[in-house]
Amino acid sequence: MHRNDYVLEKDRLNESRVFRDPIHRYIHIYHLPFWQLINTKEMQRLRRIHQLGGTHQVYQTAEHTRFPHSLGVYEVVRRMLELETFQGQLNDYERLSVLCAALLHDVGHGPFSHSFEHVFAVSHEDFTRRIILDPDTEVNQVLASYHPKLPEDVASIIEKTHPNPLLIQLVSSQIDGDRMDYLLRDSYFTGTSYGNFDMERILRTLRVKNKQIVFKESGVQAIEDYILARYHMYWQVYYHPTTRSYERLLILIFRRIRDLYQQGYPFENPMPYLMPFIAGEDVSVEAYLKMDESCLLYYFSLLEETKDAILSDLCTRFLSRKLFKYRNLKDEADYARIRDQLEKLGYDVNYYLAMDDPKQTPYIHYGAGHEVEEIQILRPDGSIHLLPEVSEIVHAIVESKLDKQDKKVYFPKEVKNWI
Ligand code: CA
Repeated sequence: MHRNDYVLEKDRLNESRVFRDPIHRYIHIYHLPFWQLINTKEMQRLRRIHQLGGTHQVYQTAEHTRFPHSLGVYEVVRRMLELETFQGQLNDYERLSVLCAALLHDVGHGPFSHSFEHVFAVSHEDFTRRIILDPDTEVNQVLASYHPKLPEDVASIIEKTHPNPLLIQLVSSQIDGDRMDYLLRDSYFTGTSYGNFDMERILRTLRVKNKQIVFKESGVQAIEDYILARYHMYWQVYYHPTTRSYERLLILIFRRIRDLYQQGYPFENPMPYLMPFIAGEDVSVEAYLKMDESCLLYYFSLLEETKDAILSDLCTRFLSRKLFKYRNLKDEADYARIRDQLEKLGYDVNYYLAMDDPKQTPYIHYGAGHEVEEIQILRPDGSIHLLPEVSEIVHAIVESKLDKQDKKVYFPKEVKNWI
């Protein structure tokens, strides 16, 4: 079968399925391929990976996982495709591909995503692609049963290498199904209002022009609000110093486990699913998928009882939320002073001192020649402009270089009077 011959209606479910959802009210599944993908073990694994890693240590209700977020991205993209402006723009095979990409875009995430990736030098993007392309996964088998090229096409949308920019923009751009869902969802589940914006308005002003997504000028205020929402969410939620403190602790635990492993330390309990990572092996897709947050937390509770005092202590701190204290870092000399002080107090600074310096840019202005990556605005006269040319607020943000960086140092709470 040629790709253009695929007919989505032929795979319509006799009865549609719905998932209740606090953000979109209902997630609608009308077609068999999406229902089958949701029921694969790789998608179901996302129920054991928190959407926000350690953020529930600050916002205690942020317990939502990557599973409902993935359904949410699918629903936003599905709603976009229903807009009048999309009629006649995509064939059924392209619709199938982009909705599968929306569902699967996060399938390669590991436990406590960013810290885990940082320590073990694995990337969720890489594993997302491998899970989709590996003939042994259920995800791949479902996709390939519809068309032999579908796994590759879905992966290329997520990787942004697909020849049709419209498909990429729907799932991954400065204003896309992914970002719109996570801002609304994370805002709801943290109980903060920063991430709220008027998605209905944005969808109403969305148009397709020359195979690209643009927004009518009357939607600019809603888009400005969306950009500021995202900026505030970064500093109030995603980069909250307490979340970062929890993540530092996680990194230090992994570091200690790895160092002990390299010294031949006799771990009292086997940790088969963690070992390929610790040993620095080339981790297979099968081994990667075994690793989730339930598994890691179980290992940490075992390691609380290990003989090594440092590892046991770090695991207790992690499980009982005895997090490190943090402070703004002034300069290199400041860091050296804290390190010396900790050493004098008897701490091994390899495991009791950490720093980080996240950065966030509210709107990335790529300029002419990179229109696909920018938010584009359609004027009533039919002309198309980059967002900073139309929005004074976004223009001011780009000009003011509001890129904020926040350098912090983390150390045990009990020494704070000494530091
Ligand atoms: Ca996502």
